[in-house]
Amino acid sequence: MRYVSTRGKGGNPRFLEAVSEGLAPDGGLFVPESMPDISKLYPTWENLSYPELCFEFLRLFADDMPEADLKKLVAASYKNFDDAQIAPLRKLSDKLYMLELFHGPTLAFKDFALQFLGNLNEYILSKTSRVMNVLGATSGDTGSAAINGMLGKRGVNIFILYPEGRISPLQERQMACTGADNVFPIAIRGTFDDAQAIVKELFGDLEFKAKWNLGAVNSINLARILAQCVYYVYASLRLPKSERENATYIVPTGNFGNVLAGWLAWKSGMPAGGFKVATNQNDILFRLFSTGVYKIGKVEPSYAPSMDIQVASNFERFIYFLLDRNSDSVRNVMETFKKTGSWKFENFKAENFTSSRMDDARIADTIAKVRRDYGVTIDPHTACAFADLSGDSSKVVLATAHPAKFPELIEKATGVKPVSPALEALLSRKIEKTVMDADAQSVRSFIESRGIK
Ligand SMILES: *Cc1c(COP(=O)(O)O)cnc(C)c1O
Repeated sequence: MRYVSTRGKGGNPRFLEAVSEGLAPDGGLFVPESMPDISKLYPTWENLSYPELCFEFLRLFADDMPEADLKKLVAASYKNFDDAQIAPLRKLSDKLYMLELFHGPTLAFKDFALQFLGNLNEYILSKTSRVMNVLGATSGDTGSAAINGMLGKRGVNIFILYPEGRISPLQERQMACTGADNVFPIAIRGTFDDAQAIVKELFGDLEFKAKWNLGAVNSINLARILAQCVYYVYASLRLPKSERENATYIVPTGNFGNVLAGWLAWKSGMPAGGFKVATNQNDILFRLFSTGVYKIGKVEPSYAPSMDIQVASNFERFIYFLLDRNSDSVRNVMETFKKTGSWKFENFKAENFTSSRMDDARIADTIAKVRRDYGVTIDPHTACAFADLSGDSSKVVLATAHPAKFPELIEKATGVKPVSPALEALLSRKIEKTVMDADAQSVRSFIESRGIK
């Protein structure tokens, strides 16, 4: 399998090279040159375990890796999940299901991709005798999942910046209590935007970037998307056969990585009736799917912070398919959007996507109602997926985080504080972090003293 850039000038790499590059050299995102057809393989996949299915799916896309190596990486990536099913599909009522994606080490769905990417990075570095310093900024979930994915990996040090005092104490502990000596959480005296600006500045210093082989952890990496396709296929195979063809997958959405993965699995022949993009009050995608106009808004902090985005970084991949793989058109859309902050699609085809939105006022009520109606506790991101359950096809709600990551809001909504033994265990561990002013030079010096070379 070869990959092409959405902007048409990114070469024609195979899987491992596309993963190493992250962003394509022309500024676009890598997509498969053609989609494999998995529908014929479906009958042979019925009873596979999660790692078995993951291997069978990914080998179609990563055919430049020896199969034994891929199998080993996949097994290692899902061994730290606390449910034997890895992604259990729970039945809530007739034709309503919840796919639990929070059984990984940091209790959010990002573990599915970042555990795999951590192992894959280590593998690629060992093959090329190189080392890498991963640098990123986080407002919460991505940082902890990336750190956990890289824990103790050979040849990789990871530096994650976050705004001091502005992420939840549990989220900070997930990053700062790992005990691993290749992990460096950096609390910046400033905002998330300050942290992000420092990361951008250091990536923009090409000499520094090359010298320290800086690596990114953002959600545009091809390997992240492909690893996320697998749990859709797994869920589909757990549904009764008669329900698979019409099932709608409802996905709490921010950067559009998760729901795009499901849609790509469908494009490859997974049976599905549709995909619902569930947003919070930051609803740029809801407005797009209702009106065909993609127009940037202001980010409002919400109860579902991992969905608080302005511009969905993976959306460019959908635009590429929407515009019939015409990369000149993609470049035109992206350039105009960057300049003017909006784009109107003529004859917009939603291509099997629908959308819903939920503002903060309804999130707490929804958490309470879902507990009353179905006896399960959901987190505020997952709550957004319950905005609209109309229609009589089967529905699969993707539960993207464990409720115990948001104890205060959930206790307020339901009267019961959710707990997770993994998070409780963090409370007694020592916090190891470095606090710094919001100043790129300080971060640069820190990497120069602690970076791997
Ligand atoms: C990251 C995240 C999302 C948004 O996922 P995207 O792939 O960015 O659309 C939703 N819920 C939780 C809990 C997350 O951590």
